[in-house]
Amino acid sequence: MVEYSFPGKVVLVTGSSRGMGATILEGFARAGATCVVNYFADDAGQNLRDAGLTAERCRAFGVTVHVLDADVSNYEAVETLMKRVVELAGGLDILVNNAGILRDRSIRKMTPSDWHAVLQTNLDGVFFCSKLAAEILRDNGRIVNIASIAGIVGFHGQANYAAAKAGVIALTKVMSKEVARRGITVNAVAPGVIRTPMLDGLKAEVLAEYEKQIPVGRVGRPEEVAHVVLFLACEESGYITGQTLPITGGWF
Ligand code: NAP
Repeated sequence: MVEYSFPGKVVLVTGSSRGMGATILEGFARAGATCVVNYFADDAGQNLRDAGLTAERCRAFGVTVHVLDADVSNYEAVETLMKRVVELAGGLDILVNNAGILRDRSIRKMTPSDWHAVLQTNLDGVFFCSKLAAEILRDNGRIVNIASIAGIVGFHGQANYAAAKAGVIALTKVMSKEVARRGITVNAVAPGVIRTPMLDGLKAEVLAEYEKQIPVGRVGRPEEVAHVVLFLACEESGYITGQTLPITGGWF
């Protein structure tokens, strides 16, 4: 892994109880940042337990870690989240908008509720977190949005997901211009197929078909996305903004 250094920086990764978000936050912990784990509380307490495990792995690098519950699709919850970040960590330097869900169906079968659920979490959530984080981000801060190649290509059965991710890519471009004078950069990454719990619902034959199509011949690892997020978040990347970088193993 490339050596990055983020001492004295505070980073919040939304949806970091598991999957790519957890790996990204661990990357920042390894690099010395104060970490804020965000999870979305469920009745069974599973997400809180997962968030606790992410926090433990981050603390193993000797950094301070805070664990905060918030549903990113709920504006008031995000307001409280940002207030708590300031109370606990004194401010924010880096926001990674990672929280996301899938509700794949053809448009014919997609219900308004499938549509709204994905748009609310994957696009409204990015807008709420970015808007409210901008109020507490220190100058020269960073926002990195986890979009998807789906928002560029548009795969069968993903109208809601593709529309949300395309929206994130557009939001990235607009916001980068609005905060540029503060030295804040706003970029996105567009991963292809990355091995995380999000793929659990995928049939083995579908995954094998993807692997046949991906030029490097395999799905990606969360660490490979984390590396690019840390690259975009580092001080030396201050002249890159408004961009979306595909991480797809050459796919598309
Ligand atoms: P994942 O394993 O399902 O993780 C998603 C995370 O988002 C979980 O921690 C989940 O938290 C959280 N989350 C969901 N709804 C939330 C809400 N309303 N508020 C706060 N947190 C919420 O998926 P992943 O693969 O790591 O995906 C991470 C991001 O990468 C997503 O934006 C996804 O669209 C994007 N992406 C993934 C792939 C891929 O192939 N895996 C490819 C391209 C893009 P809880 O567990 O607490 O609910």
